[in-house]
Amino acid sequence: MTTMFTDVRLFPRHHDDPTVDVEVAGGRIVSISPHRRRDEQTTAAGHRRPTEDSTSDGHRATGGFAPAEPELVDGRGRLLLPGLGDVHAHLDSNRMGQTFRPHTADGTLHGYIMNDRANWRHGQRSVRDQAAFAIAAIISSGGTRIRSHAQIDADCGLERFEGVRDALTAHADVLDSQIVAFPQAGIVRESGVRDLLDAALSEGADLVGGLDPLQYDRDPVRHLDIVFALAERHGKGADIHLHEGGSAGAYSIEEIAHRTRTLGLEGRVTISHAFALHTNPESEVRRLVELIAEAGISLTTVAPAKGALPQRLLAEHRVAVGLGEDGQRDYWSPYGDGDLLRRTWQLAFTNGFRRDEDIEHCLDVASRGGAQVMAGARPEGRPLTEDTAFGLGVGAPADFVLVESDTVTSAIMDAPADRDVYKGGVLVASGGEFLGGVR
Ligand SMILES: [Zn+2]
Repeated sequence: MTTMFTDVRLFPRHHDDPTVDVEVAGGRIVSISPHRRRDEQTTAAGHRRPTEDSTSDGHRATGGFAPAEPELVDGRGRLLLPGLGDVHAHLDSNRMGQTFRPHTADGTLHGYIMNDRANWRHGQRSVRDQAAFAIAAIISSGGTRIRSHAQIDADCGLERFEGVRDALTAHADVLDSQIVAFPQAGIVRESGVRDLLDAALSEGADLVGGLDPLQYDRDPVRHLDIVFALAERHGKGADIHLHEGGSAGAYSIEEIAHRTRTLGLEGRVTISHAFALHTNPESEVRRLVELIAEAGISLTTVAPAKGALPQRLLAEHRVAVGLGEDGQRDYWSPYGDGDLLRRTWQLAFTNGFRRDEDIEHCLDVASRGGAQVMAGARPEGRPLTEDTAFGLGVGAPADFVLVESDTVTSAIMDAPADRDVYKGGVLVASGGEFLGGVR
């Protein structure tokens, strides 16, 4: 099956930059060439003219032609963006689509955790169905990959983990996904959590999580020893929430980097949030980024209101950085709607970016960066349009989004509602509507 996406624009800086045709076969981009009009294509390639119906915007890349003939999708001059990723999600705690409830947490980390614990069973959908609701919203916004944490603690056991795992598994044909066994209430503070994490890793978790080893669990060595022993025992990676700032965060980063290198886990460890990188002096931040880079650790950010990661420094050190939404309209906060383009705007806004190249870098983080985090790959410094593994170059997976916009920057500023989302060249969402995939 070959599909030709005609008359699309790749990373234009100006609204009248020339368009290209992108050929997709076997779920990957196989050629990119200057746009030729339909009659030129028909003549040159010897293909018969497609039917009226098969070139409509909502066209699914299935059926209609003999196998040898490419299907045509008329891009109509729209922008082709790489597939986006939410690589720091909490699919088990979102309340999107449910009746809105007032915020009831007390503002401390422990208070947030206990507020969630007191209320999560009263949601209007099962964990699995609510996770599927969020997945549909994320895919419809342009998401083609999700790494979700799933809470595991003495209260919920594996119930929330199983709900998230089952929802992600049901979408395996339209989404790349990973799940983190996440000790939201610590590992040391409650008994039995280590064994629950161990069980989750045996039952499908891709990574083991962690949470503020010093400031929340109050026993950083024991916390990290357990996390890394589980990673080693199961041959899996780790993704550790680190809200710790200042010297506490610096200490935890040192300990994580040391264990990562000692166990040969380079490329398999992520630090989420990493607030230490904007709450320390510049020289200390540089030292920590060097430690992170040497250990092959990746980062995720949720573009928080206060403090931004040092994007330029991280890019210079080839540290993979991905974007996430954290919770969406949940017991922790009323923010978040599943829209990854809007979250990309938030990343640009919280960094104070105005120049096109800086805002395009935010799209890079939201797309290729997340893919690199999930694959454990380092950025190579190539433009997105020439990246054959994680970008839009020839050979890359045909995971992309068609939107009506003048340039990449304007797409991020406007976050147009009308988007066609393709996974492996197959249309999976259009006009904000998810087209299926749940079994
Ligand atoms: Zn989180």
